[in-house]
Amino acid sequence: MIIQPKTRGFICTTAHPEGCAEQVKRQIDYVNAQPSITGPRNVLVIGASTGYGLASRIVSSFAAGANTIGVYFDKAAEGARTASAGWYNSAAFEEAAAAAGRKSYSIVGDAFSDEIKAKTIDLIRTELGQIDLVVYSVASPRRTHPKTGETFSSVIKPLGGTYTNKTVNFHSGEVSQATIEPATEDELRQTIAVMGGEDWQMWIDDMEQAGVLAEGATTVAYSYIGPEITHAVYREGTIGAAKNDLEATAKRLNEQLSTNGGRAFVSVNKALVTQSSSAIPVVPLYISALYKVMKEKGIHEGCIEQMYRLFSERLYGNCETLVDEKGLIRVDDWEMRPEIQAEVAEVWAKLSTENVYDLSDLAGYRREFFQLFGFETDGINYEADVNPEVNITNLR
Ligand code: NAD
Repeated sequence: MIIQPKTRGFICTTAHPEGCAEQVKRQIDYVNAQPSITGPRNVLVIGASTGYGLASRIVSSFAAGANTIGVYFDKAAEGARTASAGWYNSAAFEEAAAAAGRKSYSIVGDAFSDEIKAKTIDLIRTELGQIDLVVYSVASPRRTHPKTGETFSSVIKPLGGTYTNKTVNFHSGEVSQATIEPATEDELRQTIAVMGGEDWQMWIDDMEQAGVLAEGATTVAYSYIGPEITHAVYREGTIGAAKNDLEATAKRLNEQLSTNGGRAFVSVNKALVTQSSSAIPVVPLYISALYKVMKEKGIHEGCIEQMYRLFSERLYGNCETLVDEKGLIRVDDWEMRPEIQAEVAEVWAKLSTENVYDLSDLAGYRREFFQLFGFETDGINYEADVNPEVNITNLR
């Protein structure tokens, strides 16, 4: 089958197995070129197939030499439909981990369900015994509550007032004004139910009760703060309220785990092109401006660089200030440097359809978006016939 990108809005409905494998290989190569980390031995990553979760799994396995279990929601190829990018990424990861002599297992299914939690706990018991790091990196538009059966949908909306700002159609380069009406109380409640901390807490409770969390275990989930320009729609909007809930959960989990020498953190990461962030209005244009400024200064990072820094310098490093005054780990520190933000704000004020490719790195954004699905990757022949059916070796 010849596989080409097919887009629908901010979604690409096809993925290329060889391109995805090459993207995973590049992340592994990056990590292999860095000093190794004395860190966790057995790691569970929930939301492990793309973005920050995949990078966390790669760092765990290839920098710390850990055994890993990845839980994710991805689809295998079927008929004329390719598998999802996360499926191909995970197949490539598992193959490389096995070649490097590390144990790795995949569980594909809904992490929000009791069934997948129970299945994962059984797998830990039989294969790894106990887990000493749990990474929670799920980003989802929906969640069905395992106890009540209610299905919640998340929205990305401001609270209290209408928000208008610049946005870009990153396929056409057209810069326009996006106007988003404020969320209702119910939309806010549902967004917190999807992207807040309840499911993370459920995972840790179930694992603790089952005795599969090692003494001194660490858990980490990811958050974002970002610049003034996106505050109304992000940090002070529905998704920010969900992140507040996630951060409050980290405090509770930290107390809970500390009785056994453990710790819980939220790490605030940098804005990056992922399947989730491309769905947020305004953010792709901000990321394009940010990339331009950070690349020019030589401090640009992708998911893998961010996660390597999180593990080596923060979670398992000897840094003096592990958390900020709110108790958050900050690997968005380079993004948030005042001089970076001042330059981005200057660019932002000038951005229009006419100058967007000159003033921002929209071309880089677009390319990275397609690379998430294994396209636009050097060294891959996209005219060649390729088998879309790829097995994941240790799928349970
Ligand atoms: P992503 O879309 O790349 O990855 C999401 C992962 O969650 C995938 O592995 C997917 O399979 C999995 N997933 C989704 N629904 C699931 C379900 N029901 N069951 C099991 N797995 C499921 O997202 P990302 O951007 O890497 O986001 C991960 C976390 O990082 C989120 O909390 C996000 O808010 C945070 N974050 C993202 C950015 C950014 O700019 N992308 C910045 C800072 C923090």
